[in-house]
Formats: sequence, structure tokens, C-alpha cells
Amino acid sequence: MRAPITAMNDSVSMPARPADIPSVDRLLNQPFVQPLLAQYGRAPTTAALRHLLDGLRAQAVAGQLPRQALGDAALGAALAGRLAREQQPRLRAVFNLTGTVLHTNLGRALLPDSAVRAVVSAMTTPANLEFDLADGGRGDRDDLIDDLLCELTGAEAATVVNNNAAAVLLMLNTLAQRREVVVSRGELVEIGGAFRIPDIMQRAGARLVEVGTTNRTHPHDYANAIGARTAMLMKVHCSNYEITGFTRSVEVDEVVRLARPHGVPVVVDLGSGTLCDLTQWGLPRETTVRETLAAGADLVTFSGDKLLGGPQAGLIVGRADLIARIKKNPLKRALRVGKLTLAALEPVLRLYRDPATLAQTLPTLRLLTRPAGAMAGMATRLVPLLQPALGADYRIDAAPTISQIGSGALPGGQLASHGLVIVPADDAAARGRKRAGGGRRLQRLEAALRALPRPVIGRIGEQALWLDLRCLEDGDEAAFVAQWAHLRETLAQ
Ligand SMILES: *Cc1c(COP(=O)(O)O)cnc(C)c1O
Repeated sequence: MRAPITAMNDSVSMPARPADIPSVDRLLNQPFVQPLLAQYGRAPTTAALRHLLDGLRAQAVAGQLPRQALGDAALGAALAGRLAREQQPRLRAVFNLTGTVLHTNLGRALLPDSAVRAVVSAMTTPANLEFDLADGGRGDRDDLIDDLLCELTGAEAATVVNNNAAAVLLMLNTLAQRREVVVSRGELVEIGGAFRIPDIMQRAGARLVEVGTTNRTHPHDYANAIGARTAMLMKVHCSNYEITGFTRSVEVDEVVRLARPHGVPVVVDLGSGTLCDLTQWGLPRETTVRETLAAGADLVTFSGDKLLGGPQAGLIVGRADLIARIKKNPLKRALRVGKLTLAALEPVLRLYRDPATLAQTLPTLRLLTRPAGAMAGMATRLVPLLQPALGADYRIDAAPTISQIGSGALPGGQLASHGLVIVPADDAAARGRKRAGGGRRLQRLEAALRALPRPVIGRIGEQALWLDLRCLEDGDEAAFVAQWAHLRETLAQ
């Protein structure tokens, strides 16, 4: 047996020198590395060890490496920690306590159980994705959902692509390449994640003709813009903002009346797109896909994972002849959805056949319609359980708050909710008054919550950290509370 590595130099108080760092090969034979080799495999362990030693070497070069860091116990712990961190999946479950139900950065809609089961089956079993079970011939993957989409929207035909951005791109490229598309200046929106109507228009090869002004567009603005090169009139849902005050926009049916005599189609990018009248659940009103088609729109596009509550997808519904042209565009093949998307979409659409039970069966609607009283009760229960983990540095209270639907749906729509509000302890008596250090401490707490085994994502506002409980369902409450014990250690670091 070799002498322990820490004994190579007798002066413990001196910082370690680069020459004191043991070699990778030597360490790989040490007993403390053997269990890690067995657990993680040779290549990952060797790579992690190399990275670890590179870091230590840099510290040693700077004269800042304590000699104890080279002991077996310290090296073993550092290596085990590094391997465990690497092993953690990059895509992880979090608690979405931001108050935004359809949070794009947190994955938007959650799928119902029926969709989850269908996805698992499609992942693990061959399926008739493009196979006609009646005649044994080749099928079209759109056939799996187009009947349902037509039934639920009143459309003649339907198709599905990767997301709504793809739907808009494909629609414009198919129907308006090298021709003009008339859009109101008030609707030239940018959606999060670099989706801008003018840019998509350009990539689709269509020429944008802007009409009206930012706040007011009149019917004659559209009428004056229609010419020989006009491919379509397009309306875009102002998803993430509202124009209020001195405003005028032209409704779909009016645009349709102007377009008809010229034989020019009217298309609508509905953004979130809803299949049901949301006011029946006390939610703000949003024009449905069916209403938009009934108003005369020739094509409507919308997302699968916003209000619809399904997987990421872009749905295009409307006139059969236009959908047929879209399906023949080679870009359709490039933008098509995979089987997992279709597997999830079908059961979600099926739920809409029975709107009476939708608020229980569709997670998105269940969360959006959750009464503030449910969150208030939970907040009251949680405060005494969570305060000990926060220690004396912070104070936690139950408080009313406002949730957002998110993903550009109903930007003005607000939902009464309840949550937890955490303030640095000595600021508790003086909320609203700025105090040095309070903001930094909130950021530290926010980071500590993100570092929990299942990260908790809240939002900072009004010199407090807010945790909106709308998306913490009863079944997750115990797991949420259990991991708060870790918070003390993280905050102490
Ligand atoms: C969200 C949105 C899009 C983009 O939809 P994705 O499904 O995210 O690609 C396009 N247009 C409008 C109006 C939107 O609200």
C-alpha cells in the first residue's frame, strides 16, 4: 500500500503546491474511488476526476489550495458530489409557484392522465401512426386527429405541425409566397422567444403590408390595401399586450366582408386559441376557434399547449382546399409532429367532447379554475410549517395575490389567488420602504429555493418573494413541505 497522499508533505498549514496534486492514474487505484467506479463506470469517473484535479491545480497555482483538500476523504467527497451532480437529469421537475399557470419557460400545459398513458404506449409499442388499419395501406398521421378537430371547431379540415409559430410560417409560405399579406400595425406582435410577425412573414417569403396605426385601424385601411398582389388579410391575436384608450380595431367578420368581393382569404393567428367559452368557468372571455371560423375566417391557427392544455403543437383549421394546399407544401414534412405529440393530442381533444367535466379532467383548466379559498387554506397550513426552515432571517405570511393565465392568453385577465409572501425579517415591519441589503437577501433566498432537490420557482416583487400556491396541488403539498428542511443548510452556506 502506498502512503496516504496527505502525508506527502508534513507541513499542514502551508498551501498545497501544484506538484502535490496526485495523478489521475494513481487515484483511480485508491480504495475510496472503487465504489464510485462501480456505481458510475470508468469513463465518467475518470473524466470527473480529471476535471476535479484541474480545478484543484488551478487553485494550487494561485497558492490557494488548502492541503486538506488533497486528503482521501476530501477528494472522495468532492468526486462523489461531482458525479452525483452530473448524473442528475438536466430536465427536472420544479414547483411552479410563479403565479403564471401556462409558463412558457416551465413547459406550459400539464397533460391529463389519459394523454400520459397514450404517450407511454406510443413510446413503447408500435402504433398505426401512418398506417390505415382498414385497408392495410399507407395512412396520413393527420387522420388521427382531424375528425376531432373539425367536430370541435366546425372546420372543414385540419392539420397539425410542431407549434403555432410553425403553423403561421407554413400557412404564409403556402398561400402568400412572393405576394402580399395585409396586417394591422396594431397586430404586428412579438411573442416571447423571438417570434415576430414581420420576421416570420419575411422567412415565409411573403411581403408584409402594414395598415392603420398602432392604436387605430379602420375598415377602409384594409380596403385600400387590397390589390392584385394581395394573398390574404391576416389578423393576429394581441396575445401578450393590450391596447387601451383611444383604440379601434376591425373584427374578423368585418375584415371578411371586405375581403370576400376580392376572393382574398382571411386568416387568423389566434395564438392561445380556446375551444370552449371560458366564461362558463368564471374566466375572462376569449374568442373561440369555432366563433372565429363562424365569423368567416378561412384559416385559423393556434397552439396545442396554451389554453388548449395539450402537448406542444400548432393546429391549423379551416377551408378544406386551403388545408389541402398546406399539406402538399414540402415544408409541412419538415414541420410535422412526432407520434408522441399526436398520442397526447388525441385524448386531450377527446376531453373537450364533454365540457361539463373538463374543469376536473384537464389540468390546465383545473388550475385556472381553482378557487382562491383552496390556496388560502393551504397558505394558512403552510406558514407555521415553513417558518422554522427560514429561521430568524426571514418572515413568511399568507397573503392574497393575483395569478396570470400566461402564454399570452387573456393578457388583461387576472385570477384571484393566495400565496406565501416572504420578507427579510427586519423589513417585515416596514414593507414598501427600501432598505439596503433586503433585495440581496431576497435574491439569496430565491437562489436557495432554486437549489432545492425539486427547485421552487417564485417571483420577487414589492420587496418580497411571492410563492403563488395556485399550481401547488394538494397531492404535492407533502413533498413540497418535506424538502424545506434542506433550505436551512443552503441558506447557511
Ligand atoms: C404563442 C403565440 C404564437 C406562437 O405559438 P407557439 O405555439 O409558441 O409556437 C404565435 N402567435 C401568437 C399570437 C401567439 O400568442
